[in-house]
Amino acid sequence: MKASETAAEKTAAKKAPANKAETKAAEPKKTAAKKTAEKKTAEKKPAEKKPAAKKAPAKKAAPVIEETPAAPTAPVVEEAPAPEYHEPETPRRSICFIGSECYPFVKTGGLGDVMYALPKALVKQNCDVKVILPRYKSIPWEYQEKMIYRGAFHMDLCADGRSFYVGIMEYVWDGVVYDFIDNDEFFSYGNPYTNLIDDIPRYIYFGKAALAALNYMDWIPDVIHCHDWQAGLVPVFLRTQFANTAIGHAAVMLTIHNLRFQGIYNIPTIKYWSGLPDYVFNKDALKQGYEDANMLKGGLTYCNMITTVSGTYAGEIQTSFYGEKLDDHLRYHSGKLRGIVNGIDYDIWNTATDSRLGVNYDITNVLEKKKEAKRMLQEELGLEQDDHKFVIGLISRLTNQKGLDLVNAIIPQIMDEHTQIVILGTGDAEYEDSFRYYENAYKGNVCSNIMYDETRSHKIYAGADALLVPSLFEPCGLTQLIAMHYGTIPIVRETGGLKDTVEPYNVYTNWGNGFTFDNYDAGLLLDAINRAKTLYFTNRWCWDEMVQRDMDKDVSWDSSARQYKQLYLEMTPR
Ligand code: ADP
Repeated sequence: MKASETAAEKTAAKKAPANKAETKAAEPKKTAAKKTAEKKTAEKKPAEKKPAAKKAPAKKAAPVIEETPAAPTAPVVEEAPAPEYHEPETPRRSICFIGSECYPFVKTGGLGDVMYALPKALVKQNCDVKVILPRYKSIPWEYQEKMIYRGAFHMDLCADGRSFYVGIMEYVWDGVVYDFIDNDEFFSYGNPYTNLIDDIPRYIYFGKAALAALNYMDWIPDVIHCHDWQAGLVPVFLRTQFANTAIGHAAVMLTIHNLRFQGIYNIPTIKYWSGLPDYVFNKDALKQGYEDANMLKGGLTYCNMITTVSGTYAGEIQTSFYGEKLDDHLRYHSGKLRGIVNGIDYDIWNTATDSRLGVNYDITNVLEKKKEAKRMLQEELGLEQDDHKFVIGLISRLTNQKGLDLVNAIIPQIMDEHTQIVILGTGDAEYEDSFRYYENAYKGNVCSNIMYDETRSHKIYAGADALLVPSLFEPCGLTQLIAMHYGTIPIVRETGGLKDTVEPYNVYTNWGNGFTFDNYDAGLLLDAINRAKTLYFTNRWCWDEMVQRDMDKDVSWDSSARQYKQLYLEMTPR
């Protein structure tokens, strides 16, 4: 019962109604404290900026509220807002996330953000959450040093019975328990992905070790929630080698964050490393084509529920264009396929408190402060400093998924004396080189940051006027959500989550969140950018309204976490 010890503090609420009451009582206080803090920020901002004093209803309350924390009457006020922030409690469920990356330990893209933010949001939805990750050597020391040794054992892995060490290192943070699978043979290199020859064995090992670790810790969740191909074999192991063990009773969900990556390798290699029985290598499960095995495909077959990260993408992947050769398999399993759009973490992405920005702002002063953020960005990047220029940002992995062929084709047409482009990304050499070329060709107005840099990304989200996301396909996309939350107007292709989250601007109703185009065509992207520029330069009033509307849009995890919780409950009826 070792794992239950860790979970004890959290699961205590499950056992005694009295505890539940205590939790409830404690939560409103937290919420109220948060709210007070938010109010204080909101109050301080207008105070700095005299012209905004009109919007000062909050100001009036300031002295009273600041004094209330000490006053015994506070609980009366605090109890009222609680229902706004906490759903009427749905039954408690324990969930174990298994995936290959998680911010801030290791992140290469959106998966890392989701693995961090969704568990946190689920804790608020009355879930007990554990996240299992590989302990990569590249995890910063500041986290490594805080990990606590939870135990170790040896696990049989391969078809010939070769066994491997499994260490468990634990780190608890924000109500979420992170267990890192420790094995130097697999995780002492790479960042975190290297090449399939190495990655196939390491993630086969990881999937099995995660389940073995849960049994070892005697922490049996209601639902195991796996992510992408790296955890694709988890459902297969669960229903075969682990079927008659304690963990075999758990329900299992598999989320597709990007169908392009599936973990495909020849059957003998996957059979050897996994030691899985022959019957799973049939064409309804792992087998693909004549001689390959597909880890994601196997997981889709054996899981109880498949989700992907937007409703539109859930439909798209059942078509041959977006289906990456799994469209028929997904159509077959469509009865258990759902789409839930991602959110962003408001603690990290908060313009009012973001310490990575040179200037903080909120919806009340965004129009002025964003100009400052733009100037700072221009200065830092060596661009001509001019608030009147229309600054277009692009923050992306540089791969053909992201529509960079379209961008490359039209940069000369976008560039005029009123426009600047800031690119941040790493990836394929062809795009890195072409963006470097454009930086040189348009010195002072194009800046290509060929690097991965969190801090710079925050500054671009704040300092740019618009953000380009012209993806060929986009399961959900986080950059357009972050952009909107930072008052930066997205220009996106209508695909996947981009279609679900960015309502096209309608010039007649003056409503919408950004500029969109449908077919994958450079001319249409150019047209969307030109429509954005036209509004920006000729009708700034409407542009500014859209900036504020976008900042106000709810792109948090709250609603998505609620939908995940609903699915967990559906999967585990009592
Ligand atoms: P994907 O997962 O396909 O890469 P998403 O839009 O879902 O795309 O998520 C991308 C995430 O990675 C965002 O948080 C974005 O800010 C971040 N990101 C992408 N490239 C960089 C970069 N070069 N530097 C910093 N952050 C980046």
